Amino acid sequence: MKTRTRLDGSRVIHSLAIDERRDEWRRLIPQLIGEQCYLVFSSELGLHCHGGLAGLTAIGLSALIGQAMPDAYRGPLPAIAVVDDHLRDGSYSPEGSAMVFDAIVLHELSHIVTNSVTPEMCAVPDPESLRDLVQADWREWKSHSGSLRWIGHDSRFIRVLIHLWSRMRSRGHWTSLALAFSHKSYGLASAERYRLALGDEPGDFDFRPIGEITALPMPPKFQKLWTDDVVRSLSSVQVSKGKK
Ligand SMILES: [Zn+2]
Repeated sequence: MKTRTRLDGSRVIHSLAIDERRDEWRRLIPQLIGEQCYLVFSSELGLHCHGGLAGLTAIGLSALIGQAMPDAYRGPLPAIAVVDDHLRDGSYSPEGSAMVFDAIVLHELSHIVTNSVTPEMCAVPDPESLRDLVQADWREWKSHSGSLRWIGHDSRFIRVLIHLWSRMRSRGHWTSLALAFSHKSYGLASAERYRLALGDEPGDFDFRPIGEITALPMPPKFQKLWTDDVVRSLSSVQVSKGKK
């Protein structure tokens, strides 16, 4: 296990072992979002996921954790499940697995923050529909379907993602923004371009609740980049309809 000591004396673990890295993330998440969150692997839940799915968050996950991992269950909480098959089967180097794992957690955590998911919302008694859902391609999910591929990953999501990324970085953890936001899948500009357009906002508001930040108007450059992306995506939908 590689460790290093930060200037404030707290230790940041950079283990490449996925299970240890998960434990470190579990400690980090409350520091980032101010709330507890389950972080589990699909294999622990017995979830058989479609090949394209890397991770997910859903309010029904909490109850599934209660069923499959009763020893770990502490009541309804927001939850993230990382699909771990490819992280463990040698598809990636240990460094690659760690990077992909971090990117998945950051992405799913951004959904939780963007949707303001609370423990109360996660008191869903029947998680069985989730078992069926994950067997389908995520692009066919109701929450992500439609002509506009960025639905579910709009400007609010991107802003939250960059804030969380920045907070991790200021606390000693680096994650690939490009891996956490596969912009080509959504037909949007890259997360790096959005990060540059957001300017100093993440650093200036490093300890402010993210819900307060997203209630503020978007910085003009960020707003313009988003508007340009929306206009382009709308025109591409009209063009493809016109071809039919
Ligand atoms: Zn997503």
